Formats: sequence, structure tokens, C-alpha cells
Amino acid sequence: MEKYRLMTPGPVPMSKEAREILAQEVIHHRTSAFTEKLTECRQLLKKAFQTKQNVYCLSSTGSGAMEAAVVNCLSPKEKVLCINSGKFGQRWSEMCQTYGIEVINFELEWGKSMDLKQFKNLLNSDLQIKAVLTQACETSTGILHPIKEISEIVKDYSKDCLLMVDGITALLTTPLPMDDWKIDVLVAGSQKAFMLPTGLSFIALSENAEMKMLANPQPRYYFDLRKEKKAYEKGQTYFSSAVNLINTLNFVLKNIENIGFDIYQNKISKLAQASRNYFVNVGLKIFPENPAPALTVVSLPDNVDGKKLRNEIEQKFNMSVMGGQDQLESKVLRLGHMGDIDNQKMWEALVILNRAFREWNIGSNHDQAIAMAKNELEV
Ligand SMILES: *Cc1c(COP(=O)(O)O)cnc(C)c1O
Repeated sequence: MEKYRLMTPGPVPMSKEAREILAQEVIHHRTSAFTEKLTECRQLLKKAFQTKQNVYCLSSTGSGAMEAAVVNCLSPKEKVLCINSGKFGQRWSEMCQTYGIEVINFELEWGKSMDLKQFKNLLNSDLQIKAVLTQACETSTGILHPIKEISEIVKDYSKDCLLMVDGITALLTTPLPMDDWKIDVLVAGSQKAFMLPTGLSFIALSENAEMKMLANPQPRYYFDLRKEKKAYEKGQTYFSSAVNLINTLNFVLKNIENIGFDIYQNKISKLAQASRNYFVNVGLKIFPENPAPALTVVSLPDNVDGKKLRNEIEQKFNMSVMGGQDQLESKVLRLGHMGDIDNQKMWEALVILNRAFREWNIGSNHDQAIAMAKNELEV
């Protein structure tokens, strides 16, 4: 049997060194040794977020930090605009509705770039919008949204309108400087480019968002950032810390800092570029108009059942890739570029896909396409 390969856009493969740190003995979270690790992590997270603000570490999946954003920074009956371009955009919208927030959806056709003029018009047609919520990378379709331009439009509309960004598959894979781009709430998660298992999420608030958070009457308990802020100042998390995950985060972030955040990002972009070129060279189409580096979403020919293909790749080659969700179910494959993946591993994943494509009669020029990928990845 082939060794297991995790090539999904979250969770992602971990390095051997990181797995060893994860397996270390548990220490108590109220010790000075742990406080030191946590404090270091927070400094490194600030670099990752490119912010001067606190970055809170929560024990939850990424959606927990999204919920923290909603319950801390918004209150019932407020109006918000959600950029809804896929599964995760829908999640913002559903969360807001769950808490009695009035949602205006800016619906985009899946995979299509947003028309900034249309967005601006919709925003300006209502003077009561308190926040704009969006993904930076919408992982269900693989599209990258123009956050800098969106931010300019939002700040032009009103300085008090919060821009809340789910950067879960964008952070560390593409530029997303929180302070420079005037992002008010930025959310990230551990099982994506942070190369950890699922279980930690991260959230930072601008000064404006923090003021709103402190005054917000919306009830909340577990994700109450007022409590987290107080604990933060004491070098703690309010509830028990996910000690082993945070220790491993410390290790991973120090490594990324040593390599250089830019270089780490470039590495991911190159893997993405080589994968995209391969798919195009076998005659397939990249699904989104403006593909994000974190993952490649490739359209399958109409006569191919993507679900069966994906299952066969898992059964036969022991490699996990993702299929599509909802309207894209069976129509696309989603291949991740985050995690402990070097050129060799990326190449091996493409070789497996190439074999599967050949067996299924998907595309053409397989030999040539894979030879070009080999060349591009220099393996
Ligand atoms: C992975 C992901 C999430 C979070 O999903 P969880 O399963 O809650 O970790 C949210 N948004 C985007 C864009 C993602 O890719």
C-alpha cells in the first residue's frame, strides 16, 4: 500500500518534527514555562497578521473564531453586508442570521470575480450597514478576493463600518496585512497554512472593532473576547489552553519566521502555479477566475463523476484530495498546497492524479504534461 498522502485544502500534512512536539508530555497551562511559549506565539502571530493588535488564540475550529467575530462585534438587528461567493460566505451569512443580525447578501456566481463597482453600489444603497463580511480566499471555489480594494470601498463608505475577513486559507499564503489594509476583524485557523491539526483558531480586532466589542450588549459566554482580553494581559487564555497545540504552533511559527514569511508564501505560490500549469496542460480548466494560492480547484469534464474519482484516488493510491460542495459536488477536484509539502511531495501527488486521469480518460497529453510539471518543480 502507498503511504498516506493528505493533499486537501485543510487539514494539511504536518512535519515530523512538529508531530514530535505535539506528542510531548502535557504541562499545565498556568505555569511560567507555558506562559513564555504562549507569549512568544502571540508575538509571532502578530507578525503573521501584520498587526500591532492582540491576536487571540481560541480552542476551536476556524468557525469558532468566525462566531467569536460575530458575537463580539455585532449586535441583533444591526445590518451587515455579506459577500457570498461560496460555502464559507454562506457560513458568515447564516451565523449572522442565527444571532438576529439583518443580512444583505452580495451574491456572486461561484468562481466568478467580484465586480467592485456593483459591490460599491450595493453598499452605498443603504446607509445603515455596520459591517462587511467576506472571505479573502473562498475555499469552496478557490477564488481570491481583492481585500485591499474592498477595504478602500468600505472605508470610503464609512469609517465606522467594520471590515471582517475570514482569512483562514489566505493568511500566510497571500499578502493580507491587517493594519495596512485596515481590516477590522481578521480570522485564521490552525489546520490550514499554520500546518497544525484542527483545534486552534485565531482572531484579531482593530481598535475600532475592539471598542465595539467592549461596549457590545450581545450576550456570549465561551467566545467572550472581553474575558480573553483580560486573560491576555496576564499572559494566559481565559479557559484551559490547548497546551500541546500552542507549543507546536510556537515551533511552526518560529520556523516560518526563520525561513521568512515572504519565502514561505512564495513556496506555496510556486506549488500552486506548477499544479495549475499541469492541469491546463492536460486540457482541464481551472474553476475560479482569480485562483488563490492555497489550493487549486480544477473542473472535471461533464461525463466524469468527481465523487467516484476522488474515492478511487483514496482507495487505490491512499491519497486524499477534496471534491466539490453543494452545486460543485462531483464537478471539481480541490487540491491543497498548504502544509508540509515540498516540491517532491507536490510532484508525487501530481503523478498520482496523472495516473488516475489516464485510467479514467480525463484530458490528454498526460506524458508531456507531467514531464513539464517535473521540470517546473525541479525534481
Ligand atoms: C477551513 C475554513 C473554515 C473553517 O472551517 P472549520 O472546519 O471550522 O475549521 C472557514 N473558512 C474558510 C475559508 C476555510 O477554508
